[in-house]
Amino acid sequence: MIANYGYEDGSGHYYIKIDTAKCAECEGKSCISVCPEKLFATELDDFDDEVVIIREDVRNTLQTACANCKANGKKELCLQNCEAGAIGFSW
Ligand code: SF4
Ligand code: SF4
Repeated sequence: MIANYGYEDGSGHYYIKIDTAKCAECEGKSCISVCPEKLFATELDDFDDEVVIIREDVRNTLQTACANCKANGKKELCLQNCEAGAIGFSW
């Protein structure tokens, strides 16, 4: 399943997309430990596989939370460390 977490406002769309089928197969789940803002959490999906989600309490502040990671054209730390390519950004 492709899950989308985020929001939109007058300045744009701010969504993180996660391919949870890839997370279910991912042993290390390195996105959790590398995210400096601790935005990721886990939950069990309908098949009892552990998948990654974006914490509910930060979903409406993603632009601010990810600003340092995205500064100066750097590649986001979570993208750098997700070998499965399960993460995408809308901005
Ligand atoms: S590292 Fe990638 S595939 Fe693994 S849990 Fe995180 S987002 Fe999913
Ligand atoms: S861009 Fe940085 S702060 Fe945002 S989710 Fe990825 S690792 Fe975390």
